[in-house]
Amino acid sequence: MAVASNKEPIVTSMPNRRQFLVGATTVASCFAVSRFSSAQDRKPTRIILLGTKGGPNLGNIGRNNSATLILINYIPYLIDCGYGVSRQLISAGITLNRLRYIFITHHHSDHNLEYGPLLYITWAAAQQTSINAYGPPGLKKLTKDFFEYERFDIEIRIADEGYADPGKLVAVQEFDQAGLVMQNADVKVTSCRVRHPPITQSYAYRFDAKDRSIVISGDTAYAPELAEFAKRADVLIHEAMYLPGIERLISSAPDATRLRQHLLASHTSTEDVGRIAAQAGVKTLVLSHLVPGNDPSITDAQWSEGVRKHFKGKIIVGKDLMEI
Ligand SMILES: [Zn+2]
Ligand SMILES: [Zn+2]
Repeated sequence: MAVASNKEPIVTSMPNRRQFLVGATTVASCFAVSRFSSAQDRKPTRIILLGTKGGPNLGNIGRNNSATLILINYIPYLIDCGYGVSRQLISAGITLNRLRYIFITHHHSDHNLEYGPLLYITWAAAQQTSINAYGPPGLKKLTKDFFEYERFDIEIRIADEGYADPGKLVAVQEFDQAGLVMQNADVKVTSCRVRHPPITQSYAYRFDAKDRSIVISGDTAYAPELAEFAKRADVLIHEAMYLPGIERLISSAPDATRLRQHLLASHTSTEDVGRIAAQAGVKTLVLSHLVPGNDPSITDAQWSEGVRKHFKGKIIVGKDLMEI
């Protein structure tokens, strides 16, 4: 575990042109990567937490809204696009023209607010980029509507500055049930529907790479099926809610009763996160999407203590730009 910075290059060797192109094309052609990459070229799978707070308000204690990066053999896989994700990617050393895969867990804004702007900035930086985006229904409309929202700018840049049409920038694949999301030579990505009422289309993702298996819970209440999905994963990144901090959080809400009901019905207490991690038998548990994520008085020991009652493995309290 380490905190990534600009000074510490996240990628020691940039992908060559062939790898860029392979990553940009179809799943089938991604199999070409392994044929052209020597064993020495391969790097272990890495995780960088880009945003570790839950909820739509902006963080003021150094936690950005939800986003997680997995690097597998140099290729970035981005899970969720909370506000600030573009800047966080750059802070983590990822030039945006390398972006190839985006996964959205569900359509709460703390997970998708910067999805469109990230696509736009990527297009502005590298117009020939091709991105595959995966997520529950609504993602196609979100994509289309964002480009409509910026239509004036895009049309002017195409006419005035010779920009390429962004129409082919992103290929969106929606799914409405759990299962295989995508697979290439480096990783198999599967999904599990989790419990996040009133949203019914909310998913966890599992990344099975050659050297590491990683599960990201997305937003969910206590969900035993998630423990099954995460069985024996190396790393489980799970959302976490610190119950003693909730009353302080909701005291300024316009309707504290409803907000309390929402939080308790659709998120997971630290104790229950411990139960899930223990049932799954994971090696390492990372707490992220922290609620409250803006309260500096909650210590790492407090985040961990409820978890530890049930889970005896390694516990990491997530922080932005932490590498795991
Ligand atoms: Zn959330
Ligand atoms: Zn949510």
